[in-house]
Amino acid sequence: MTSVASSPNPSTDRPAAGPLPKAELHLHIEGTLEPGLAFALARRNGVELPYATEDELRRAYSFADLQSFLDLYYALMAVLRTEDDFADLAHAYLARAKEQGVRHAEIFFDPQAHTARGVAIGTVIDGLARALDAAEETYGISTRLIMCFLRDESAESALATFEAARPYLHRITAVGLDSAEVGHPPVKFREVFALAKEAGLKCVAHAGEEGPPAYVWEALDVLGVDRIDHGVRSMEDERLVARLVADQVPLTVCPLSYLRLRVVDDLADHPLPAMLDAGLLVTVNSDDPAYFGGYADDNFTAVRDALGLDGATLRRLARNSFRASFLDEPTRERYLKEIDAHEAAAGQDGAHGA
Ligand SMILES: [Zn+2]
Repeated sequence: MTSVASSPNPSTDRPAAGPLPKAELHLHIEGTLEPGLAFALARRNGVELPYATEDELRRAYSFADLQSFLDLYYALMAVLRTEDDFADLAHAYLARAKEQGVRHAEIFFDPQAHTARGVAIGTVIDGLARALDAAEETYGISTRLIMCFLRDESAESALATFEAARPYLHRITAVGLDSAEVGHPPVKFREVFALAKEAGLKCVAHAGEEGPPAYVWEALDVLGVDRIDHGVRSMEDERLVARLVADQVPLTVCPLSYLRLRVVDDLADHPLPAMLDAGLLVTVNSDDPAYFGGYADDNFTAVRDALGLDGATLRRLARNSFRASFLDEPTRERYLKEIDAHEAAAGQDGAHGA
């Protein structure tokens, strides 16, 4: 085993420690589709994109709100058609995640967004699984897959999706709930979440992003989720905060997402410090990084700069990410030790660096 602290570091203008080791727990694989890959897949599959160049497409990545983002997001998915496309998409994400210090990724996918276009659920899952099966060896990243239901589709559609996924459940760790939140409360999906639990799956749900604190209560008490995705609006309800703190329910917060979707105008206004002060088990994640201008470590850097978070706070966020993950205990402990080693190496840098 190599000791990070004892490795010589001849370069003094580059930190030896690199990005903080972290887990990414809120990441939509479809939201990692970069303009370059979108054009490459469009060419490969003979799909016409309504943009002439990658630059023109990148300029379209400017959103007024959640719905205007979702419109582009679903339009671009037309380029994803074959198992190879899904494998390439996941490989591209994993390569970037590695550079960002991601050691473990729990990855969302939206089967209904693909089956609605005539792509079989097996094509999606087998393609993603092919990349994820190689992730440990190729990128040094452990992975889990989370199947999300689109909450603006019907409860019946979610049930049909779950049944179609039954032959692939050994590939899936959890079910989730995403897409346009307002008007689609968690209770709508009570039945499919009960089936997922019966099948031994973990449960997560987007709640309290644009929707009210009542949706977070419902996700907890009706769906019985293990984690809340976003959950920032929980801060509007003192009793809810107390409950989330008491049970240490993880919240997967996505700072650059709020900025790009205009939930906050300035990251300096983000409630992350107040959430940490309240004792919430908060994690920092990238959500849809190709669209929101940053991957996992970019989000850490953004909150560090905008909110003035110190190294100890950033390490707390990184430790939270492993604590909030669905990892087995020995692996979780191994990753937590990597953060200790990173701290030791960063300390040495501080002592010797300029
Ligand atoms: Zn999300």
